[in-house]
Amino acid sequence: MAKIEMKTPLVEMDGDEMTRILWKMIKDELLLPFIDLKTEYYDLGLEYRNETNDQVTIDSAEATKKYGVAVKCATITPNAARMTEYNLKEMWKSPNGTIRAALDGTVFRAPIQVKGIEPCVKNWEKPITLARHAYGDVYKNTEIKVPGAGKAELVFTGADGKEIRQTIQEFDGPGIIQGIHNTDKSITSFAKACFNYALDTKQDLWFATKDTISKIYDHNFKDIFQDIYDKEYKDKFEAAGIEYFYTLIDDAVARVMKAKGGFIWACKNYDGDVMSDMVSSACGSLAMMTSVLVSPSGVYEYEAAHGTVQRHYYKHLKGEETSTNSVATIFAWTGALRKRGELDNIPELMAFADKLEKATLSTIESGKMTKDLALITSMKDVTVLNSEGFIKAVRESLETML
Ligand code: NAP
Ligand code: MG
Repeated sequence: MAKIEMKTPLVEMDGDEMTRILWKMIKDELLLPFIDLKTEYYDLGLEYRNETNDQVTIDSAEATKKYGVAVKCATITPNAARMTEYNLKEMWKSPNGTIRAALDGTVFRAPIQVKGIEPCVKNWEKPITLARHAYGDVYKNTEIKVPGAGKAELVFTGADGKEIRQTIQEFDGPGIIQGIHNTDKSITSFAKACFNYALDTKQDLWFATKDTISKIYDHNFKDIFQDIYDKEYKDKFEAAGIEYFYTLIDDAVARVMKAKGGFIWACKNYDGDVMSDMVSSACGSLAMMTSVLVSPSGVYEYEAAHGTVQRHYYKHLKGEETSTNSVATIFAWTGALRKRGELDNIPELMAFADKLEKATLSTIESGKMTKDLALITSMKDVTVLNSEGFIKAVRESLETML
């Protein structure tokens, strides 16, 4: 069988530990035999990031802007322990943070649903995609522990020197205060990324905040979304037969629990943090969660939602067998290949991505899976495979389909 030809390279960002091992297996078993794979390779493994003073991360983000589609392996975010372990020159920043900042992107996460691993919420027939605003609010706050009686004020000094001043609270004893912010620019990017992704995936978009209480702060989010929608997206949404609607966060939570799924739920930073953990744990496993970073200009970076699975890697290094789930990493590749196929008009590449996803899911549905899924499946008498065994089983299903 002739291999599928590609036109534009994918930006390939290799990573660390167990996911780096899976990365190579996926390429060798599931991609290279079938595709004339064109990638521009960036090694984001911690050793090479350290060697290049993290320049490789910046270069990979620039390449993503140039080519439009990237696929990323999980990477280590250094902490004190990693400084010693890898003898690092500096505590390099999280690559995901660097890439997100360079692309000004929003992260969309969705569970991969499969028969036999049912969500706890029985009516969730289709995945719920969470879009989390990744800038500001409580994640970039200033806090003071108020020692005793006194007056707390909110002061803004304009570039022209003019002051706006308001009283937060007249304290008669100890307490706490917090200052948070956001920018119209960041909220606008977030809104556009959400509208574009909804059009791209033909799903309704929900957005919710607490604007009844936060009449200026949250209301600003609501107004920016509505304004952009009315001006730039209303017609496109109507043509695509999808809907945008805004509601209060309490109402959204109540509706989500009753919904069938199959929509995008856009959340402010904190709501997105909390709600994405709720949706993913209700769906079983972090290893069954896709993640894609979308920039307002329409650049895409696909990855798995989980980390480098360090514990399994140490077992692997000791020569022990691992049963690490590669599904989310496989879906990062299929997401990127499908998008590349769509942008370059290569229907065979898009069809291959669909088939590889189907082969992966049908392998699990036939009772062959890694240990994490075997522990939570409703299926009886399943076969638990090791890391490599699962990828080989997917290859078999794929070959039958092709
Ligand atoms: P993790 O790699 O997500 O793993 C945490 C635990 O979740 C694992 O020990 C494992 O549980 C389970 N798990 C996660 N993915 C799995 C998979 N594919 N198959 C089977 N089980 C899986 O998180 P972490 O151990 O906290 O972080 C390790 C490193 O990853 C850190 O250095 C962190 O900086 C990095 N990280 C990177 C990203 C990213 O690049 N996007 C995201 C998060 C974390 P059991 O051990 O019980 O089997
Ligand atoms: Mg969280």
